[in-house]
Amino acid sequence: MFFANYNRLLGLKHKYQSRTFKANEFTRLIRRQFPSRDFSFHTHKDYAVDPDMVITAGSYDCYYDGLGLPHTEITLCYHPEQDQYFGAALDWDQISFDVAECIGHELIHRSQHKSRRKLAKYISSISDINKKAEQEYLGAEEEIEAYGFSIAAESKIFNKEYGNCAMYNIYTNTFDSDHSVVVKLEEQIVKYLIQLTGA
Ligand SMILES: [Zn+2]
Repeated sequence: MFFANYNRLLGLKHKYQSRTFKANEFTRLIRRQFPSRDFSFHTHKDYAVDPDMVITAGSYDCYYDGLGLPHTEITLCYHPEQDQYFGAALDWDQISFDVAECIGHELIHRSQHKSRRKLAKYISSISDINKKAEQEYLGAEEEIEAYGFSIAAESKIFNKEYGNCAMYNIYTNTFDSDHSVVVKLEEQIVKYLIQLTGA
């Protein structure tokens, strides 16, 4: 599923790299690659995004899922003042990976919800309020599992050791005082590396 999504998106490069797009046209092109009963796509403008970059964010909504509505929202973020995107200037490899990885990550949250497994929260004892919030987000079992997938996927697609993946380094920096979270993350990475190798 992950590789099929990635390869389908990457296949757009050949056909569309000589085209120009407005941001919402590019979002529509990506949206057409996925069933609308499951996914909704949105265009968002944000000065944190550099020109010619497209940043992907996702969220799973169990309430919508229960109503039979599109359960996963994918938001593509663009620089606010860029009117035209030249296909040749876009990093199709990165965008294809980001969208496929984001969808895979959110579908893990969906299966966590559907399985009704009890997943542990993480209680941080750190006093710095920002670091505490980040530890409690990343340290929750649901995110350790989903980011384990994200890191394994990055390792496979870009052919690099998981220890060199960006999200792995965020985990090791965030939990420099609690190595047990990194150990749990590594277990999940290995689980998904095996799954993705068999896929
Ligand atoms: Zn997540």
